Amino acid sequence: MTRTLTDPYTTLGVARSADAAEIKAAYRRLAMQYHPDRNPGDKGAEERFKEISEAYATLRDPELRARFDRYGAAGQGMGRPDFSTADWQTIFQEADIKIDWSGRGNVPRTGNMVFDALFGAMAGMMRSSGLLPGEDRDVSALLTVPEARSGTRRRVHVPGPSVCVRCRGTGQGSAGFCDVCGGRGVSRGGAQVEVEVPPLRKDDTRLRLKGLGGPGRPPGDAYVHLNVQLPPGAALAPDGTLRAELTLLPGEAARGVTTDVLGVEVVVPKGSASGDTVRVPEGGLGGSDLLLTLKTDVWGGLWRRVRNALS
Ligand SMILES: [Zn+2]
Repeated sequence: MTRTLTDPYTTLGVARSADAAEIKAAYRRLAMQYHPDRNPGDKGAEERFKEISEAYATLRDPELRARFDRYGAAGQGMGRPDFSTADWQTIFQEADIKIDWSGRGNVPRTGNMVFDALFGAMAGMMRSSGLLPGEDRDVSALLTVPEARSGTRRRVHVPGPSVCVRCRGTGQGSAGFCDVCGGRGVSRGGAQVEVEVPPLRKDDTRLRLKGLGGPGRPPGDAYVHLNVQLPPGAALAPDGTLRAELTLLPGEAARGVTTDVLGVEVVVPKGSASGDTVRVPEGGLGGSDLLLTLKTDVWGGLWRRVRNALS
């Protein structure tokens, strides 16, 4: 699919002065000739069919045609014109191609294997052109316990092609074309999205970014799967209650100590012992508690102190 743009006038065999009716007639004639139904299994005919369809898409659109006339192939920016605004449904109808738009998996079925394969290859382009619903995209993000408890902002990468975050797929900016996507409405390499993460109530929470998935009509959604990064030995109950271990130096439990655990201040009362449980109200997720089981260990206790000193 990475062919370079050929001169659409040459491809369709029409003069540069040809009017809309002549261009349409030339396309219909060639489409009949290279129609996949008439050339079963012929890869060359399939490629040629795509070429003439793109050439016709270029010349039937006054804006694309004017741009080609003015700048040639180089003026199309990426070496190939952007067909995201092309009316493929009309284009194929004009080639007498019957498309079943209720097709499975969002890829139209024509009843012809070769043509269905061609459609599979073109499905991405057709989605971009707004003929098919966009695909959903899944991304995941790992949060620390403090981030999950209080909420945070996170930058995630939605894999491409995805809807342009700046213009939300419209291609329009304050001064004409959107300066992020150049008017395409699509980010081919995907998009960086700043996500507002609310305080979580549980692990494995899914955030929906409506309309920021794959391009199409309607555009797909992006889903951010949020998981909480728990320290070894910790567990999160479905109600948000968090259980973890707190390792103290020998003597600390008996003397009592105030220390930082998973982003909250914990007061271990005087006279505590290894194996005791200290409850920290609202130290879990969603307002639930943090339950700490005390352990005594020299190196574990020292490590806790070093970590707190560095954080
Ligand atoms: Zn844009």
